Amino acid sequence: QTTTTPAVGGGDVRLTGISKRYGTFTAVHPLDLTVPQGSFFALLGASGCGKTTTLRMIAGLEEPTQGTVHLGDQDVTRLPPYRRPVNTVFQSYALFPHLDVFENVAFGLRRRGIKNVKQQVAEMLELVQLGRQARRKPHQLSGGQQQRVAVARALINHPEVLLLDEPLGALDLKLRRQMQLELKRIQTEVGITFIHVTHDQEEAMTMADTVAVMNAGRVEQLGTPTDLYENPRTAFVAGFLGTSNLVPARVTARRGEELVLTAGGATLVLPAARCTVPAPAGAAVLAGVRPEKITLTHADDAAGIPEGRNRITGRIADAGFLGVSTQYVVDSPVCPGFEVYAQNIDRDPRLVPGAEVVAHWSPAHTFGLDAAQD
Ligand code: ATP
Repeated sequence: QTTTTPAVGGGDVRLTGISKRYGTFTAVHPLDLTVPQGSFFALLGASGCGKTTTLRMIAGLEEPTQGTVHLGDQDVTRLPPYRRPVNTVFQSYALFPHLDVFENVAFGLRRRGIKNVKQQVAEMLELVQLGRQARRKPHQLSGGQQQRVAVARALINHPEVLLLDEPLGALDLKLRRQMQLELKRIQTEVGITFIHVTHDQEEAMTMADTVAVMNAGRVEQLGTPTDLYENPRTAFVAGFLGTSNLVPARVTARRGEELVLTAGGATLVLPAARCTVPAPAGAAVLAGVRPEKITLTHADDAAGIPEGRNRITGRIADAGFLGVSTQYVVDSPVCPGFEVYAQNIDRDPRLVPGAEVVAHWSPAHTFGLDAAQD
């Protein structure tokens, strides 16, 4: 049981119209974003999308070209980093190599002139499960342990917000997974806001309550991991979070709460509420479906497929065994050049490359996106 006291007060992190230009290049377009107090928030995006710049503007390490940063009611836009109740953990950890674990963590307290640091440091080391490594130097620790020291050191002064800039980037995959859960546990325990920058969608989905997907200096979509996965609003988000099949289609009619589409001769049905663009008859849309929602049936058994399913016929081009599932690539003549990735746990031995198949799924699992953007 740790007695680490969570920072009180604080409040939401609020970015208002914040932007960053370097010369003529805009790294972050004017952005409004609220990070609720006590949440685990992830900024997710590919390299160069502006996530680190956004984080650095919250830290005060980068001055915004325009806009403001508030912590609760306080406008901190003009405050230097050390006057903000915010601390950052970097990928490089930046530990002092000549100091042991205890002294690395104690550093922030000593710098503030606090003398009796023993209990606070011990509690913090307990929190990150490094109580027994207190007297080791950084080079005597594993990557994961060094990372925990960096987290303990950043938390010792009880910031209201902890910023994490690709903190797990240097770790191998297995350790990364462990540390993801570990950081989540620490965040839950201390109860302060964590803002985590990553390019790894799985990492963001595992850890965060809310994820902001960034693309080319803008937040493309904001939501819970489940919401982003199930209701992506753009082709970019659909493709960035997992795999999506996006079938170019055209609206033929609206039938009550459903849109009827035609795609290279196949008829697909989509709940109108799941289409992100106005879709009058004739409009071009992308009909999306996640690979795990699709069932593959051998063409010989097509008569047994229940009525009302969306279906695309084709031929298996490739089958990759993944252990619990198999990933199929289906080339479909109705959608030239289009592939369906389907995972199937009840493997039919006839489902091998060359087999004629029907890929089918429920209309409810179909989402519609603007065909004009990509
Ligand atoms: P990464 O994951 O690679 O760190 P990122 O999404 O965090 O990427 P940023 O570091 O925020 O991206 O950078 C956004 C864009 O701004 C990039 O194109 C980068 O080259 C540019 N940029 C960042 N800092 C500067 C700078 N000091 N001067 C000019 N351009 C910069």
